[in-house]
Amino acid sequence: MEDTIAAIATPFGEGGIGIIRISGERSKDILYQIFVPAYGDKETPIENRRFNYGHILSLNHEQVIDEVLCVYMKAPSTYTREDIVEIHCHGSVVSLRRTLSLVLNCGARLAEPGEFTKRAFLNGRIDLSQAEAVIDVIKAKTEKSFEVAMNQMEGHLSRTIRDLRKALMDLLVQLAVNIDYSEEDIEELTYDEIIKCISTIGDKVQDLLNTETSGRMLRDGLKVTIVGKPNVGKSSLLNALLKEARAIVTAIPGTTRDPIEEVLSIEGIPVLITDTAGIHTTEDYIEQIGIEKTKAAISRADLIIFMVDGSEPLREEDYAIAEQIGDRGVIILLNKRDLGKRVSEEQLIQRLPQAVFIDTSILEQKGVKELEDQIVAMVYGGEVSQEQSDVVTSARQQDLLSKAQSDLLDALKMATKQEAMDFIEVDVRHAWELLGDIIGETVTEDIINQVFERFCLGK
Ligand code: GDP
Repeated sequence: MEDTIAAIATPFGEGGIGIIRISGERSKDILYQIFVPAYGDKETPIENRRFNYGHILSLNHEQVIDEVLCVYMKAPSTYTREDIVEIHCHGSVVSLRRTLSLVLNCGARLAEPGEFTKRAFLNGRIDLSQAEAVIDVIKAKTEKSFEVAMNQMEGHLSRTIRDLRKALMDLLVQLAVNIDYSEEDIEELTYDEIIKCISTIGDKVQDLLNTETSGRMLRDGLKVTIVGKPNVGKSSLLNALLKEARAIVTAIPGTTRDPIEEVLSIEGIPVLITDTAGIHTTEDYIEQIGIEKTKAAISRADLIIFMVDGSEPLREEDYAIAEQIGDRGVIILLNKRDLGKRVSEEQLIQRLPQAVFIDTSILEQKGVKELEDQIVAMVYGGEVSQEQSDVVTSARQQDLLSKAQSDLLDALKMATKQEAMDFIEVDVRHAWELLGDIIGETVTEDIINQVFERFCLGK
């Protein structure tokens, strides 16, 4: 018999209610030992999927621990596919701890982080990519990240992966027949057919791979760094963005060494902005300390916003910063347009040919919306439409997909050279297995443990 596990499922702190979750065969038994309904007695049957009002009592029944609502959900139609009990206590740390400790005394074991979801996976209710999405749903800070995670949790990506695996399996079967019965009178599989089939599947794998950058940004946030010499308007821009953003998600206090990082939501996309305004305390910006710090901020960023004072000729400091940006993604703001324009795009385009230019006047609130639109466009990168539901969000999935893709390319090469089908079969099979790892069909325990390590308690 599997252990029965229990944990506090709600966040630590004060709240109206706090929930203890129990999963496993002994769940209902445990509830009977500690719960007395308000109407009836200890023997009153606890109905499936009905809220029961009553009290949690100490084991000797001498002390009332809390006044609660509890619900028993019978397997298998539950989150873990096991019997589940939830006890809705008052959200005080004392009540929750005491109730949990009673539950543990009655034979449950404290759940590990993610263990409820792990059971949902092991018992076949969700696959591994859906389980990974559960944590993303919980942690999502903006609407768009939530949407992407929900889609994955509901199995959109899983379905696409299953379809790809089915197509690969069909090919494997045909290859096997041709290898094993090549002498016999069977329908021959031509190399052209193999090439066509692998190319179609490879294209679809590539489509998924292309969503990874956007997927990662939607999940973890786009890291943006604002750079520019002192007084060009960086702090003003940060304030303007914070004001425009409908929701400031949370502020991550900068450590003494790191510049401040703000998290805001731009059209539902989490954007983490690092403001380097405070880093150049020295008079001469080109001095080493300023350079090093800007360099570090640039290297961490997915996107750089490079501000120059467009109302003055460019200075050596501006060119020094341009140098550091190198070939990274950059939006150049020619700020202080209200004071005139004395910088032209040509002056910077030679050094930063990849740059996108926007004229701004932060003072007059001009150009901020264009900047936001540009950021959003970059996140979607032309590769992912805002409605797309299959988005690869985890590094684990990305890694497996690119390995599968490289096997498919090898297989394709061999088919083009008309090499023996046995060799092609090996690569195709390997790709099929790798895709299986994404949804957890063929994974090892190690990988499963790694996936669930990221979870919080009680989930
Ligand atoms: P930082 O040192 O790059 O962070 O620059 P600040 O944001 O502190 O701005 C420096 C000065 O420029 C402040 O007095 C701002 O009010 C002013 N400033 C910022 N943006 C504009 C703008 O678009 N036009 C004008 N005229 N002044 C601006």
